[in-house]
Amino acid sequence: MISFSRRQFMQILGFGALTSTLPASGTFASRKMEEAKAGVKTLKIKDVEIYYFDIKFTEPFTISLGTVYSSNAVLIRILTDSGIVGIGESSPFQPITGETQQTNIDVAQNMREMLKGKDPLAIESANKLFGAFLHSNPSIVAAFDMALYDILGKVASLPVFRLLGGDKNTFETDLTTGIDTPENMVKSVKASIAAGFKSLKVKIGQDPDMDVLRIQAIRDAIGYDYPLRLDANQGYTVPQAIYALRQMEKFKIEFCEQPLVFSDIDGMRQVREESSIAIAADESLFFPTDAVKLIKAGACDYFNIKLMKAGGITNSLKISIIAEAANIRCMVGCMAETRIGLTAAAHVIGAQKNIIFADLDGYFQHAVDPVVDGMKIQGGMVTLPEKPGLGVDIDPAYLKKLKRI
Ligand code: MG
Repeated sequence: MISFSRRQFMQILGFGALTSTLPASGTFASRKMEEAKAGVKTLKIKDVEIYYFDIKFTEPFTISLGTVYSSNAVLIRILTDSGIVGIGESSPFQPITGETQQTNIDVAQNMREMLKGKDPLAIESANKLFGAFLHSNPSIVAAFDMALYDILGKVASLPVFRLLGGDKNTFETDLTTGIDTPENMVKSVKASIAAGFKSLKVKIGQDPDMDVLRIQAIRDAIGYDYPLRLDANQGYTVPQAIYALRQMEKFKIEFCEQPLVFSDIDGMRQVREESSIAIAADESLFFPTDAVKLIKAGACDYFNIKLMKAGGITNSLKISIIAEAANIRCMVGCMAETRIGLTAAAHVIGAQKNIIFADLDGYFQHAVDPVVDGMKIQGGMVTLPEKPGLGVDIDPAYLKKLKRI
């Protein structure tokens, strides 16, 4: 095999004059770079701190599956021997993912033992270990995965979305109105518009006729200038979904999320064929393998990716890439995360051109916001932090008060 030094190689390319500035050894790397690389190679996970906290909602939030009154989260801090700390949050929502704060805490303790001494930058290898918990506890897997990306970004001195090749540091998010009387839903939608939101998401799925009246009332009140996306949260049967969506075609609906129970992929294809309203898969889509199934079935037009379903940034990126290849555009949504989990979700959106919708309003009803830096929402626009890593932290005074496992 013929081999060239860097100097010889650049002379061949016609950059002979420039080679005089190269070190005699012809190596790219400066001493500083070599030192940095050596430091990265020896980086080890020293410990994982596990905390939990509950944040009350300012108002109850109703979807077709029930009413939610608070966010019940688990916070983790991955400590490395270099002093770099990665932060992550799980926001388990039992009706959708089956897990609870308590099961997340149990699993987090196992994950802590598995990770001690491991390389925090080897995120693919860590996810291989997490595989055992992904099916039953995707939210706590998400918390660990995002914390590892936080460390990776801090080591690379880049915000995670830029590290992943993205450049989108601001984008629009919608704000969601829960199920209520038509009058109260109109009030809520008007308040969203007054706060600057241009995309509006509305929960439906309890009763088809009532839902038609709700959307009629909203369109009558706000006109047709604002995009309206619906979310039935699995509330309809196939005939109900076809009936309701046909009635609502005249209301200029952007798309409807998850009309049917999560497992009815074939039914979703049927509804999609029978209505002109685009269909988005949410509860039917957890992992990359679900993305493939939905694409093969022709069951939907859009994906709603959530870090808490997918198990973090790693799988969310994989879903977005699979979707892009199949001409499916994506939304990234949320459960009831604070701005820690939401910042991780915002980095995924910032990194992927194929993610064109955002629903990152999880903390809007939180009675407290115990988060420092991170993503911010102003007038319906999300802005990403430009700090290395996730660029978000828990308020130290709040952390001091939390119960540690
Ligand atoms: Mg949804």
